[in-house]
Amino acid sequence: MAGIGFGNWSLTAAGRANRPPSPYQPSHVSVTRRLRKTYTIRLWSVRHARFLEIVYGKFASLFLHLHPVWKAVGYKRAEGPVKFVERRAKGLLFDCRMCGQCILSSTGMSCPMNCPKRLRNGPCGGVRANGHCEVEPDMPCVWVQAWEGSRRMQGGDAILNVQPPVDHSLRETSAWLRVTAQAAAAREPALDSQKGSARP
Ligand code: SF4
Repeated sequence: MAGIGFGNWSLTAAGRANRPPSPYQPSHVSVTRRLRKTYTIRLWSVRHARFLEIVYGKFASLFLHLHPVWKAVGYKRAEGPVKFVERRAKGLLFDCRMCGQCILSSTGMSCPMNCPKRLRNGPCGGVRANGHCEVEPDMPCVWVQAWEGSRRMQGGDAILNVQPPVDHSLRETSAWLRVTAQAAAAREPALDSQKGSARP
């Protein structure tokens, strides 16, 4: 069998498969070996944070307009199909982890749930000199990206707001529907008072 000889040490394909894991991890190899192509789209989203901010604004108001539809169908019943679309769309653009409490508009369109430490309020102290992650050296730090994306956005200063801890009971739920329901509930008293003052 073909192998590379070096003294009494020989490396073959079979040998490589059977050898024990080395304690040495080359600095350029990611521990979890995330796919570079995942970053590519994610980084595109950060570079186009302003464009996505505009699109999201329009999309959010469309969703709010559809509130009577969600109410008629039932938010609970709408959850399945909306979540299906949300997972795929945000998964493609942001590598979304469906935390259910989206803060992309406060993080320069860089999803903080991609941070291996799941930090939601800025980077840890381990960011590398090249702006990459301490834990995953191949991956640009999501918080360095978040800052860069936020500088491109009109509402980018929202990155300075302190985020509450993640509520894990909301995982795997639709953030789109939750935000819509909250916005609809917030505007209902205002609409009621408008109707009240319009009455003779
Ligand atoms: S913040 Fe949560 S909902 Fe938003 S993209 Fe990241 S994982 Fe998905």
